[in-house]
Amino acid sequence: MESLTNRKKVLEQKPMNFIERLYLPAIVKGMAITFKHMFKKKETIHYPEKTREFSINYRGMHSLKRDEQGRERCTACGLCALSCPAEAISMIAAERKEDEMHLYREEKYAAVYEINMLRCIFCGLCEEACPKEAIYLDGNIVPADYLRRNFIYGKDKLVEPTLT
Ligand code: SF4
Ligand code: SF4
Repeated sequence: MESLTNRKKVLEQKPMNFIERLYLPAIVKGMAITFKHMFKKKETIHYPEKTREFSINYRGMHSLKRDEQGRERCTACGLCALSCPAEAISMIAAERKEDEMHLYREEKYAAVYEINMLRCIFCGLCEEACPKEAIYLDGNIVPADYLRRNFIYGKDKLVEPTLT
């Protein structure tokens, strides 16, 4: 019973005086806070139009590299998939046709190469495991999406474009 009386006392507000009822002091106080923050350095950025400068250790989206002649470096050896703790990488290896072999030193290539970006923890082990220096995590942030299936990135998103 006593505690109920105490709580009632806490909830009871003292009546506002005339100035307080005009709300002017509160408005002036609020505006002062707004103006103070208007001239402060902004912590927010307009992503995705603007992005932060990342540290040199930043690991972004994967990219599958090409060599100096524009050929895909990946030989579908599977070491990146084996080293991936999240089991995020899958690929299908294929053999090159004979007429392609004059362009490539390697017989094998990844006909399909996919990374599940929802599984990936951006640890960088795939990059370290690759004997061909074919995969680097040097891209941007993985963009947001509404559908889970859109986070399976295939060669169309991973292989770096050819230099023209
Ligand atoms: S960064 Fe790590 S988790 Fe992501 S694909 Fe590579 S090895 Fe797997
Ligand atoms: S990216 Fe590197 S490790 Fe992975 S399959 Fe290709 S060559 Fe092998």
